[in-house]
Amino acid sequence: GSGAEKGAPPGGGEGGGMNTQKVEFIKSAANKKAFLRDGRHAVAFAGRSNVGKSSVINSLLNRKNYARVGATPGKTVQVNYFLVDGAYFIDLPGYGYARVSGDERRRWGALMEDFFQEPNLFTMGVLIVDSRHAPTADDVTMAEYFFDAGRPFVVVANKCDKLKKSEIEPNLERIRDVLGLDDDFPLLLYSCTAKVGRRELLGFIENNI
Ligand code: GDP
Repeated sequence: GSGAEKGAPPGGGEGGGMNTQKVEFIKSAANKKAFLRDGRHAVAFAGRSNVGKSSVINSLLNRKNYARVGATPGKTVQVNYFLVDGAYFIDLPGYGYARVSGDERRRWGALMEDFFQEPNLFTMGVLIVDSRHAPTADDVTMAEYFFDAGRPFVVVANKCDKLKKSEIEPNLERIRDVLGLDDDFPLLLYSCTAKVGRRELLGFIENNI
């Protein structure tokens, strides 16, 4: 890596893995013609609106606002591509926001169908759910998309800083149950604010791309 560069900020080139300092926004794709097909490895991030998907991506990249945080949920049905040390981070559009129109819901469904039905658009997935709650029907649908794609994916249970210690195990069990994850399926406790799980998630990504 480039960790030896003078004045390089901390957090890059960790242990010879992915250099999360090397980040570049590439493009937003609003239809399937615009998806990138250049053969790079790609990590697809999915999650319902407000689950903290932007925050998780930002925490991985040690940035505050690389992926936009708190933009009007559901307003943009598009797939955002970032280049991170030679691999794409793909920010899939959030789902499940109550106040979006039927039109937007249909656009989301159509775009996701297009994305997941085409092989080789991504290498692995990261499905972000809220550690406090049972996964929603939309979360289950998204897990099925990833299972059907036949790519490895990891489920990230975000906002664990909001849990009492006694809630952690039962809540993780409920997530496994509802999403149909085996006991050995990768499920990571995560907190962007308390910085829990970042190393494990980066490790999973590095091992699967
Ligand atoms: P997105 O719509 O899924 O991209 O969600 P955002 O990243 O915009 O986050 C939604 C809200 O949840 C924001 O107010 C974040 O500050 C907050 N948030 C995100 N991650 C965490 C976390 O790990 N813990 C807590 N307590 N709040 C979080």
